[in-house]
Amino acid sequence: MNMQLRRSAVAASMALCLSASAQTTEYPWQVEEVAAGVFAFLQPQERRFDDSNTLVVIGPSDVVVVDSQSDRRATGAIIDWIREHTDAPVRTVINTHWHSDHTQNNVLYRSAFGEDVEFMGHTSLGEDIVERAAASVQERVEYFDTELPGARERLERGVFRDGSEMSDEDRGEQRATIIQAEAWLQENRDLQWILPNRPYGLRQRLRRAGQTIELIHFGGHTRGDTVVWLPEAEVVATGDLVDDMPYAGHSYPKGWVAALERIADLGAAAIVPGHGTVFRDQTKLEAIADFLDSLVQQAGAAAERGDDLETTIASIDLSPARAALASDAMSGNFFDQVLPEAIERAWLEARGEIE
Ligand SMILES: [Zn+2]
Repeated sequence: MNMQLRRSAVAASMALCLSASAQTTEYPWQVEEVAAGVFAFLQPQERRFDDSNTLVVIGPSDVVVVDSQSDRRATGAIIDWIREHTDAPVRTVINTHWHSDHTQNNVLYRSAFGEDVEFMGHTSLGEDIVERAAASVQERVEYFDTELPGARERLERGVFRDGSEMSDEDRGEQRATIIQAEAWLQENRDLQWILPNRPYGLRQRLRRAGQTIELIHFGGHTRGDTVVWLPEAEVVATGDLVDDMPYAGHSYPKGWVAALERIADLGAAAIVPGHGTVFRDQTKLEAIADFLDSLVQQAGAAAERGDDLETTIASIDLSPARAALASDAMSGNFFDQVLPEAIERAWLEARGEIE
């Protein structure tokens, strides 16, 4: 399964658990003012891989938002927070890349702040949102639509697909799974995806929210990554080029290493990653670069030997990178789960088989 789908599904089930319990403004954000008027909305640690962080820049007459997430309730809480803190409207939403946990809720900003909102991202973003983000959510909608009637019927009869009987515990689990899937379907069936109406190519300098804001394109985590650099505030929002635990399943590993060097050269005082806490130094950048560098080197050597993918996956040792990157069991598990996809990308890249 696509990692984005897993993240969305987990987010949907989390939303389900939380939906009855809290007002939107009680969402357990950590809000950090990383520079005057520049606020990082950080996901709670335990759900940092489920949905993205958001950066909010408040100026005298307008607000800029970087990344729009996929959990509606959480984004609704950010919009409420913005309205509580300023009369200025959101006029610009920047998506750092196409993954649904960074783009899906663009529509909430359009609904809240109207037709004047500019949506910005790399020129490849529109196509990738339609053909990849929207398509994979739609695929999952169709999957649930196909599977749910049978699952409901089997639950009623108390039997699994293979005919074996469900225990009371099994029934409880099956019921919970079905409820989660139904809730996810309800939220995701008729999504409206808002594409960038102001795409940019290599680099774009803007004056917004009382700040100079530079958008810089890289091909690293995806082909269309945008780094958002605020030189006066010395803040950079990196999207998933910097991540508490990087996901490389759609990546261009060599370009990613180069991107990290360029981000380091910006000399930001605060690095706001796509997922995880704010970094004040370059330790995390270096750890991610070391991981990708080792991946590129080892996959390159394997490709040169003519190893097939299976042999390559079995032979690559990234345990030092894992030790440096994984801060807890959750991120360690995430590393293990997505490592084969990372190796595949690096191996394909070394063979010249990704565009
Ligand atoms: Zn993400």
